[in-house]
Amino acid sequence: MTMPDQLGPKLGAPLFGEICILGLGLIGSSLARVIRLQNIASSLICYDSDAAVQNRVAELGLGSRVASNLAEAVAKADLVVLCVPVGANAELAQAMAPHLKAGAIISDVGSVKSSVVSAILPHLPPNVILVPAHPVAGTEYSGPDAGFATLFAERWCIVTPPPDTDQMAVDKVVNFWAACGSNVEIMTPQHHDQVLAITSHIPHLIAYNIVDTAAQLEQVTQSEVIKFSAGGFRDFTRIAASDPTMWRDVFLNNREAVLEMLGRFNEDLTALQRMIRFGDGEGLFALFSRTRAIRRSIIAVGQETAAPDFGRRQPETKID
Ligand code: NAP
Repeated sequence: MTMPDQLGPKLGAPLFGEICILGLGLIGSSLARVIRLQNIASSLICYDSDAAVQNRVAELGLGSRVASNLAEAVAKADLVVLCVPVGANAELAQAMAPHLKAGAIISDVGSVKSSVVSAILPHLPPNVILVPAHPVAGTEYSGPDAGFATLFAERWCIVTPPPDTDQMAVDKVVNFWAACGSNVEIMTPQHHDQVLAITSHIPHLIAYNIVDTAAQLEQVTQSEVIKFSAGGFRDFTRIAASDPTMWRDVFLNNREAVLEMLGRFNEDLTALQRMIRFGDGEGLFALFSRTRAIRRSIIAVGQETAAPDFGRRQPETKID
């Protein structure tokens, strides 16, 4: 299995009249690219609060139009997708609410879901429908130049509608992500946050921690850490290079699930520490064999490639 670099056939007819993307970083600009490439909307409006990003999006020709203000951006959109850091959602939802078209579907791409629903939903008028989603795909890069149309291809997207959400709106968001190339699963926001805490948030926390610990070690100079970085450490540095704003917001907004999983992680780490202290080679071998089987299962279902990675693969997609 190689990493996907192809999308399926273009849609015969667009799924939406007008789509508006708010926030044109890695995720927003990747969405803009795949929407245009696959004919998912008749018209695509892009809006970012950063003037430099607006200019770059216009240069790259990512949308039918780049809007310079939020009200104008969302006014005619049938689907509005918030692609901003999780901590910016509440303010953005409040600011756009008076300008939304009746019947519009509002969605997002945030890596946390319970807090996103409670940040956005109270601000929305009753005549629009919120259907949040999280594409489980990303890279450690940010900004409109980092995006690419195949980012979501063959990756999972988790759709997390609040209870009693209109089924037609849910179906439209599911179809939207399928058209972007994703496999789609529906979950409650709470379950999503538990699952992602262990598969994504804790691994990032460990990476941030190990890289920072190495950087602070007094017996080993920083230049030695960089010069002799072995494959294991290099993999962690890639994850630890992820966007600081995004990841600050993830941990502040998925606090409970992350702390719960971290408690369990610490217990298991202590058990490993005891195995080393007491020379329990059998225990270590059994554990390392179980973890190797997990890696092989991920490769078997096509979510990773078995090719050796010497840190030279480009471009890199990673599971967020
Ligand atoms: P990014 O590359 O940093 O892009 C975010 C963009 O949104 C930036 O251009 C930012 O401008 C802009 N922005 C911030 N506040 C805004 C506002 N109020 N109105 C309009 N634009 C605003 O971030 P990203 O990696 O695409 O992440 C976006 C979302 O996707 C996050 O919620 C994240 O949790 C989720 N996600 C990320 C990944 C990943 O791997 N990166 C994967 C899945 C989901 P400034 O630069 O001026 O702040």
